Amino acid sequence: MAEVNSEKNVDEIFCHSCGQIIKKEAEICPKCGVRQRSVSISFNKRVTAGILAILLGSFGVHKFYLGYTGLGILYLCFFWSGIPGIAGLIEGALMLARTDEEFEARYG
Ligand SMILES: [Zn+2]
Repeated sequence: MAEVNSEKNVDEIFCHSCGQIIKKEAEICPKCGVRQRSVSISFNKRVTAGILAILLGSFGVHKFYLGYTGLGILYLCFFWSGIPGIAGLIEGALMLARTDEEFEARYG
């Protein structure tokens, strides 16, 4: 019986630490015990926050989305000045330019 170790199913990924094939949903690699990063979740969150910042940055929507309610209210209070809108544009561009790891370290 031939075993094909290099083939993985659609619901499997390679462990980023030891390279073992593991389930996509696995939080911790059963082989080496290293926690897996949920890259797709970070990616979606980062892109969503970035787009919100660019489109609705004036109202601090991206701050509320990321859980910074206090900052969100601050943006909302000063939206008339136009400054939150500019800050949102810059923040949004930076979020989209960052890697998922950088985003996770800063906002995760
Ligand atoms: Zn592993």
